[in-house]
Amino acid sequence: MQISAPLTRIIGIANIVVVTVAVIGLSLLPDEKRPHAEAARALAKVQGSVEPPSPSPAGEPPGVVATPDFARQVRANEAGLVPVIMYHRILAKRLASIDRTPDQLRKELEKLAKQGYVPITAKEFAAGDIRVPAGKFPVVLTFDDGHPSHFALDASGNPKPDTAVGIIQEVARKYPSFRPVATFWINREPFGLVDRDAQAAAVKWLVDHGYEVANHTWGHPNLRALGKKKVREQIVRIERLLKKLGAPPSTTMALPYGSIPRPKKLARTGSWDGTRYDFAGVFLAGAEPSLSPYAKKFDRGAIQRIQSNGKKGECRKWCSQYWLEWLNKHPGERYVSDGDPERISIPEKLRGNIVAKRGLQVIAY
Ligand SMILES: [Zn+2]
Repeated sequence: MQISAPLTRIIGIANIVVVTVAVIGLSLLPDEKRPHAEAARALAKVQGSVEPPSPSPAGEPPGVVATPDFARQVRANEAGLVPVIMYHRILAKRLASIDRTPDQLRKELEKLAKQGYVPITAKEFAAGDIRVPAGKFPVVLTFDDGHPSHFALDASGNPKPDTAVGIIQEVARKYPSFRPVATFWINREPFGLVDRDAQAAAVKWLVDHGYEVANHTWGHPNLRALGKKKVREQIVRIERLLKKLGAPPSTTMALPYGSIPRPKKLARTGSWDGTRYDFAGVFLAGAEPSLSPYAKKFDRGAIQRIQSNGKKGECRKWCSQYWLEWLNKHPGERYVSDGDPERISIPEKLRGNIVAKRGLQVIAY
């Protein structure tokens, strides 16, 4: 990205100038002749512009129609690796090595924002619905176990500072290109809340703001040690709870301890007591960046994640500091967006690595 960042900026500025002139022109038109805002957006789209990234968690489409030339200019590589970062508790005083302090989380997110990463949810990632501006990189922020340090509302109904959501919102205010979304995989007491109304209020706030709340099993057991029926029950109980709390059915789940049940497909799809589940992605607990969801070798039944941590001890090689540095040193391996959710852009040499799904058009350059 060292080389392509200035180029992206030049393209961006050139387009902003063109679009600004067009918009000023339109605004000078008398009312009855003024086309709908849609037309202005369409105009921007035709010109292949990079709209300023929307801070809206709903994620406005970046508004680009990718062409081979454009894909080459931004070095798009939608067959590349995506970091799916795994967080547990966010504690001022860490009790375990997987805990992070609010300051460590804030610093990591700010670093991601400065380096051009844009968060998407695990749900969007698994569905291949990646809406990230051209030249930028998707990152998936995931929080396991529904800990109180992930989310809590203050008296005025806002996320408490120094919770995961409080910090994500804060970083997004500071870096408007940083889309404030993340995935929370919960168990039977989401965010440490026991009261149903409080649980529902928490889930509603998150879902309304574009966050994903999904399945991490009812009691956090080691699924590998359970019989088939028990595995299904563990998953369905959380689906039922989420439904009661007003959340949509989960399309993703994280395996407790990253432990895969036998047979493996039990974690992805099944039913218990008349309730079905069917996930687009099942996530592991470590220890490397994930393949692109468009890659032939992408296994949606065992999606890789990276533990957030420094480079000490066990994390010398396998945690987020190591891998984020590695991705910076190997920019050709990283997923780089073409800004066009309808097309998959890749260097010609990687054409054999991807599957074109859902009729998405492939641009190889
Ligand atoms: Zn867990």
